[in-house]
Amino acid sequence: MVNRSEFSHHIEIYTDGSNDGIRTATAVVAPNSVKTVRLPDNASIFTAEIHALDMALDIIRRTRSKDYVVLSDSYLLKGESQPVCEACHSPLTVKHFLVDCTRYSAARQRYFGVDTLKGVFENVASGNIITYVKDIGFYNCI
Ligand SMILES: [Zn+2]
Repeated sequence: MVNRSEFSHHIEIYTDGSNDGIRTATAVVAPNSVKTVRLPDNASIFTAEIHALDMALDIIRRTRSKDYVVLSDSYLLKGESQPVCEACHSPLTVKHFLVDCTRYSAARQRYFGVDTLKGVFENVASGNIITYVKDIGFYNCI
């Protein structure tokens, strides 16, 4: 977990990799861009996370600001157990709180109006994704 007060003036970039057992993908959400990439099916979740961090670094290289904070699934990089959703005890993933968890259905409808991860990343403004994360109380948990 990040102490956000230390990075309150930094640009936040969120990364995530996902693997549903068949397909592997990675995503990066920055204030003015959302990027997703589907990786080869045999790619690991660790590869997806690293690819997301590389995409975040590419965003940083192409901008002028020097103050960034990259928020990612650090448990994978630290070899820790995956966290679980406090509401339903499912594995806590970006896909879970952006698409699957029934606890946040009403908030998702308010901010997204779509019910797939692809729909979120392709059709929802990055600012709306970040506002949704703040609204459901996950902002300080990432
Ligand atoms: Zn849940």
